[in-house]
Amino acid sequence: MTAAPQPAPKHRSASARANTYRSIYPLRILGMGLGLWVICSVLIQTGDLARFGWLALVTLGLWPHLAYLHARTSRNPYRAEVRNLLIDSAIVGLWIPLMHFNLLPSVVLAVITTHDKFGTGIKRLWLYSLPGMAGMALLGTLVLRPEPVLASSLSVIIATLPVIVLHSLAVSFTSYRLIRTVARQNKELKALRQRDAQTGLFARAHWQEQAQAVLEGARRSDRPAWLLMIDIDHFKPINDVHGHTVGDEAIRVVGEVIRESVRDRDCAGRYGGDEFAVVCADTDEAHAHAIAQRIRERIEALRLAELPELRLTSSIGMARASHSHMTLRDWLNAADAALYRAKHEGRNQVASVFGALDGGELQRPY
Ligand code: GH3
Ligand code: MG
Repeated sequence: MTAAPQPAPKHRSASARANTYRSIYPLRILGMGLGLWVICSVLIQTGDLARFGWLALVTLGLWPHLAYLHARTSRNPYRAEVRNLLIDSAIVGLWIPLMHFNLLPSVVLAVITTHDKFGTGIKRLWLYSLPGMAGMALLGTLVLRPEPVLASSLSVIIATLPVIVLHSLAVSFTSYRLIRTVARQNKELKALRQRDAQTGLFARAHWQEQAQAVLEGARRSDRPAWLLMIDIDHFKPINDVHGHTVGDEAIRVVGEVIRESVRDRDCAGRYGGDEFAVVCADTDEAHAHAIAQRIRERIEALRLAELPELRLTSSIGMARASHSHMTLRDWLNAADAALYRAKHEGRNQVASVFGALDGGELQRPY
């Protein structure tokens, strides 16, 4: 009986695992203390207090401190604490015949002790604790052959209530904390998944979701929306000549430039490799073009701290959302076609596909 569940040690660091016994120590004192209270009330009911009172003091009052010392002085405190947890169950098992199988306290103590094994998160510990508990119960029964006294006196019932109440509260509190932690971690995980770790821009999948929504909105409202595909020019040679670390740094700073060059409501993502994409909802061509030019000029002006002589340029393809774009893929293809043209016509420039709402597509140079 350790009064409250513990977080799963499997997911904690080695030092946290080694310190498990420290966090269990006060809980064991509390749990065993409450158990001592219950067991003494039963011993009074059965008239065995003088005979077994000392044993209750040793196994419930002294045991938490012995368990603590055992784990602390052990070469493997975590393993020692797992053994301690199994001994907790064996102690409760022993007390079941000593309490003459008094039903309420026997069931409550056995259930709570086993429940606490689940709470530790240690795989199958609850199962491994059962033979010890049953074995000690059997041993006590064979040695003492106690007369069953199943009914509990009012004082035993009253003594058992704090164990039930406190344990339920502790479990509820721990579950609450666990649920809050899981919710927070899920939120953090979702935010992490949405971002490309290298550039801080939206990751491809999340960007696609946003772009899809912008395309649907544009098709519904007939309001202009633009997609910008940005690709670093001659990026492979940068990797080949200066190495991947410089290449990675170039991608990072280009991402930074893109993030700083778009408006808050625009959605900028890393599409993959040295390719980036931006969607601008409710934006006319002049504004979209201004954003694209700003990105292109700032990339051209970029200087890497570790390699200031390196020059970066980019080509940008723009496409307006059109009714002919049935899917995001169609819209991306249109922007890709413009990007191809920007590359083909000499790179370091912006090219556009004007997807007219009547379905026609006009290519427009700048
Ligand atoms: P172009 O002007 O036609 O775009 O020529 P390019 O050399 O840039 O050709 P391309 O865009 O096809 O090459 C992209 C290269 O970027 C290929 C790949 O090795 C490299 N790359 C992709 N992701 C990363 C990355 O995260 N880090 C680094 N260092 N290189 C990357
Ligand atoms: Mg490239």
